[in-house]
Amino acid sequence: MDLSKEETDQIIAMAEDIIADRSRYESLMAHRKLATLFYEPSTRTRLSFTSAMMELGGNVLGFSDAKSSSVSKGETVQDTIRVVGCFADIIAMRHYIEGAPLAAAEVSRVPIINAGDGSHSHPTQTLTDLLTIKRELGHIDGITIGFCGDLRFGRTVHSLIKALSRYSGVKVVLIAPDELRLPDYIKQDVCESMGVEYRETDNLDEAIPELDVLYMTRVQKERFLDEDEFDRVKDSFILDARRMGLGKPTMAVLHPLPRVNEILPEVDADPRAAYFRQVENGKFVRMALISKLLQWKDDPEHTMPKGEEPILDPTLHCSNAKCICNQEHVQPRFRKGTGGTMRCWYCDSKVK
Ligand code: ASP
Repeated sequence: MDLSKEETDQIIAMAEDIIADRSRYESLMAHRKLATLFYEPSTRTRLSFTSAMMELGGNVLGFSDAKSSSVSKGETVQDTIRVVGCFADIIAMRHYIEGAPLAAAEVSRVPIINAGDGSHSHPTQTLTDLLTIKRELGHIDGITIGFCGDLRFGRTVHSLIKALSRYSGVKVVLIAPDELRLPDYIKQDVCESMGVEYRETDNLDEAIPELDVLYMTRVQKERFLDEDEFDRVKDSFILDARRMGLGKPTMAVLHPLPRVNEILPEVDADPRAAYFRQVENGKFVRMALISKLLQWKDDPEHTMPKGEEPILDPTLHCSNAKCICNQEHVQPRFRKGTGGTMRCWYCDSKVK
């Protein structure tokens, strides 16, 4: 499910409140269960969900390796969700199939949290990033943020740009080599249609001085079909102490982690290196997210945003082989993009 801007802000405010007074929240989720279903590797996201639920006094069940579940017998995502919904109050799912958490939500009787789907999106990392920006800079409106590295496959970048487009006066600098540029659908359907000022460059040194936030990313090795292409771009940008010297004294450096080569360890001691503080913020924001989703579900007065209606058209086909509608028996659905284009409802890919 998608959160409105107001709900997002409420979650961030609750996370800040949790940080200020943890003891008030220690039994908020007593007797409630979170299932973590991870079909793809994860360290921070899965452990931070687990730790978040434990700090709220709740319990956690699930799997971190789909091979140990019925998936290995051929069970579909939607069937697995129908089953797990009988055991848990809320589910966090990471999947290598794009759109899988959305398809799961369509049949689920409990809230589904997308903990990352392929190279498509990673909305709970976005909540973490928003909270980190707020804590580091004091505000989100009006920032200039540079996204550097793998903007093509980096799902955290896609989700964060979407979220930032709802704040006012945010400027985006896209720093990437040609091969790793941001997908068109985000440039067109998000930046252009929401009026976000953006520019593209392949020169990190030139971009750094104007940034309030530098968002570094790992080149997503696991998404490349061609190893030579990965080798060509893997070390495109490396943040070191010299480059930090080009930045504002107040700049915050974020990274969703894990890092490989793109930030040298010499940067870690710089007070502007916020990426390990960002990890801890991930736990607080997930505590707030779990609590709010269950509160809203229990509150008959609260209606989640309805959003647009999907378009059903049997003549259209999603062009993405990694999309749930091409992987399992999920009925393809579409939405209108900008300039008369049609996009897949589940993965945002172009339509054939
Ligand atoms: N941990 C982030 C993700 O799951 C970033 C990364 O893997 O590079 O997308």
